[in-house]
Amino acid sequence: MQFNILTLFPELFPGPLAASVTGKALEKKLWSVRTVNIRDYATDNYRSVDDTPFGGGAGMVMRADILEAALLSFNKKKPSEDGGSKPARRVFMSPRGKPLTQNLVEELAREDEITILCGRYEGVDQRFLDQYNFEDISIGDYVLAGGEIPALAVMEACIRLLPGALGNAATTGEESFSEKTGGLLEYPQYTKPAIWTTCNGNILNVPEVLRSGDHGKIEKWRTAQSLEVTRRLRPDLLAQHSTDQEKEE
Ligand code: SAM
Repeated sequence: MQFNILTLFPELFPGPLAASVTGKALEKKLWSVRTVNIRDYATDNYRSVDDTPFGGGAGMVMRADILEAALLSFNKKKPSEDGGSKPARRVFMSPRGKPLTQNLVEELAREDEITILCGRYEGVDQRFLDQYNFEDISIGDYVLAGGEIPALAVMEACIRLLPGALGNAATTGEESFSEKTGGLLEYPQYTKPAIWTTCNGNILNVPEVLRSGDHGKIEKWRTAQSLEVTRRLRPDLLAQHSTDQEKEE
């Protein structure tokens, strides 16, 4: 999978993605990243990439002409020339975008190539986003200073789904939000030691059922726990789960 990143801070990539499973996947060439420094396409002596917003208001807006030059530096085809060939999917990281869910990640991870624009300042001239069919994606209802951390989150979520990226492929199937858990949160996990004595003398056991070796019982327990954890932490997911189940029935 190829990621093209339009950013004012190319030094932030691959950043944390060079470590751990995503780093190993990078070594295996399961993914690659090309960064384009938007500032390289500025045309004045100050290398400015932004200007004041039409209509007034606080802050600065990234300029469409400079962003277009940055995009076309690697995406040679102008919009009118895109013709039949499918351009890489284009994403603008934005708090106003559609929420990044596991379903959306699964969809994005099926693409061979994605171009991600990382905003800064107040935002980006809308004409550029419309002209080049960028889709807005948000990583949550809060405002960060720039789109680089959101872009890294999108990338990491996609990379771990790439075939061969994780040692045990089953681990992506049984997680929170996955189809296998019916879109619910994951059940609690435990490991050795089975009996843990804390520093102040509390003795804590692992739930007996998990040590029973009875796979049917374990699965039932996990499903019940999954429902309970979701009810407690994310009741909104439970409502969606019930609707989906009713549709299935
Ligand atoms: N004025 C914008 C607004 O009110 O929606 C916020 C701009 S923010 C300071 C600068 C950039 O950070 C945005 O253009 C976007 O690329 C990125 N950003 C901030 N929060 C984000 C979020 N929750 N999800 C995705 N990108 C975000």
